[in-house]
Amino acid sequence: MFRSARLKLTAWYLLIIMLVSISFSLVIHRQVTAELRQRFAVMESRVRGRMDMEPLPPGSPPRGPELFASDLASAEQRLLLVLLYANAVILVVSAGAGYVLAGRTLRPIEEALAEQKRFMADASHELRTPLTALKASNEVALRDKKLTARAAREVLAGNLADVDRLTVMADRLLALERYQARAEPGAFETISAADIVDEAIERVRPMAEGKGVRIESAVADGAFDADRAAIVELLVILLDNGVKYTDGGGRVRIEAKQTPKRQSFVVSDTGAGIEAPHLPHIFDRFYRGDVSRNETATRGHGLGLSLAKEIADAHKGSIEVSSAPGEGSVFAVTLPRGRR
Ligand code: ADP
Repeated sequence: MFRSARLKLTAWYLLIIMLVSISFSLVIHRQVTAELRQRFAVMESRVRGRMDMEPLPPGSPPRGPELFASDLASAEQRLLLVLLYANAVILVVSAGAGYVLAGRTLRPIEEALAEQKRFMADASHELRTPLTALKASNEVALRDKKLTARAAREVLAGNLADVDRLTVMADRLLALERYQARAEPGAFETISAADIVDEAIERVRPMAEGKGVRIESAVADGAFDADRAAIVELLVILLDNGVKYTDGGGRVRIEAKQTPKRQSFVVSDTGAGIEAPHLPHIFDRFYRGDVSRNETATRGHGLGLSLAKEIADAHKGSIEVSSAPGEGSVFAVTLPRGRR
């Protein structure tokens, strides 16, 4: 598809360039032939005068030069050849240049389309897996003639958990889409760092308590401008990961600091840490590191950090990670304090 689009675009470039070039050549040809004819006519009348030949009667209609007829014809022929040659060179050069330029013009579109295709394939794959599990557990329960109320309740609870995960995934996919189109500056408001840290901690507290992971916070309160819901989401993602990848008895810590221009949040944990080969990819969509070590971690979709990064980017901020296996992880988010 892109090959034929590239060829079509090249053909359009070529058509425009050749139209301009041929029009110029026609004008040049007309002007130069008229000039040549006039010059040869002047030369002829001078030569006739000198050689005592019969001058052209005054007032006679202008004639072409008779003595230099063959010189004029060969000059005109050379002119035509030069113009044809120049046009042929322009045709070849602009076909090559047009092809290269068309490729460059189409490359970002091609890349965006390939990215979208990959995204759709990954998203459908991620959706299929829990749906297949849901379907299988329902079928098994339905086929069981002696299913007790207790067992049925367990199946329903499992199904509900799967539905919750699918909902989180759908929400994150939608949020990713939204932040890719960039957050609306209209959604910005002045928010307090302490308030949003508290809100984010409250959202992950049940899971942390369930696992026996302690959450600590050290917040220097201050105001900054941002999309409140988005920043809470970003902090929830980091805290949630901290809890997910830390075993019971460990701790997750969140710090908030301010400078006159910047607001920063640092989320650190005493968890599993991330191995060096995974580090460059953890912000990619659907990328998941080695999650086999941790049971609760297997419930993710690899969308959290890519969404966190989109949110930081949409606020013209940054997110960085430093981590080593067995030494926990540190995620640092820096945002500008003023409105964009
Ligand atoms: P998910 O947690 O759903 O797998 P994320 O995008 O949030 O997806 O994270 C991507 C990967 O980065 C995870 O699969 C995990 O391997 C790694 N990761 C993220 N946060 C942490 C953390 N705090 N400790 C250890 N590994 C982490």
